[in-house]
Amino acid sequence: MIEADELFKLYRMGDSIVRALDGVSLHVQAGEFVSITGASGSGKSTLMHILGCLDRPTRGAYRLRGQLLNNMGDSQLASVRNKHIGFVFQTFNLIQRTLAVDNVAVPLVYGRMSETRRAAMAALDKVGLAHRAKHRPNELSGGERQRVAIARAIVNNPSLILADEPTGNLDTRTGEQIMEIFRSLNATGTTIILVTHEMDVAVQARRIVRMRDGKIVTDEMLDEARRAALLSETVSVG
Ligand code: ADP
Ligand code: MG
Repeated sequence: MIEADELFKLYRMGDSIVRALDGVSLHVQAGEFVSITGASGSGKSTLMHILGCLDRPTRGAYRLRGQLLNNMGDSQLASVRNKHIGFVFQTFNLIQRTLAVDNVAVPLVYGRMSETRRAAMAALDKVGLAHRAKHRPNELSGGERQRVAIARAIVNNPSLILADEPTGNLDTRTGEQIMEIFRSLNATGTTIILVTHEMDVAVQARRIVRMRDGKIVTDEMLDEARRAALLSETVSVG
């Protein structure tokens, strides 16, 4: 699904250069559930933006579904993104004055009206929010807004979902409901990459990648024992 090799992303800040990504290689198979964690500023969002075709690396190769994306133009990248990738953000990024069902239909701009409505309703139903279809975001709770955002992310049936701190603005219990939705999407074959700085969220994935200073420092599969160890590590540190 994802083959990223030796990715660098450099930003010039005045006289100095920030290495937001400093030689990151990450391969992810179809159907995996991977969390990416690390301190603020470690490069997680930069990596997600590149994996999601929202940004390009300064250097390095990125293949998605076997296709090399490095030299694609903006419109080609946008088309790959629309076909294959769903995004979920910390701040939901919904259109405030627009009904939930129409927010969900946003990625379906080229579809016929009746079809897009039906697809949007089906996606809302998958996240348990069909009954809120005619509500606007400001009439919904934080958890419900994030579920609308997830419905929007899955309305195209993408093979890959990228979520950047999706539980960051939610209380623990609501965050748990969001994680449950990701688990069920993963169980039906969707590849999920989830960025979070919260270890108790990160360990719910089957594989955890830890970043520091633009580099991947650990990349491991989790079993129950390792999960427990990582959790107690953060408790004792934090
Ligand atoms: P994280 O998501 O892990 O908090 P980011 O990927 O957002 O980290 O940022 C990694 C590093 O790159 C940080 O030092 C950040 O300040 C820097 N950075 C990110 N985006 C930009 C930008 N557009 N211009 C300059 N520096 C940036
Ligand atoms: Mg970030």
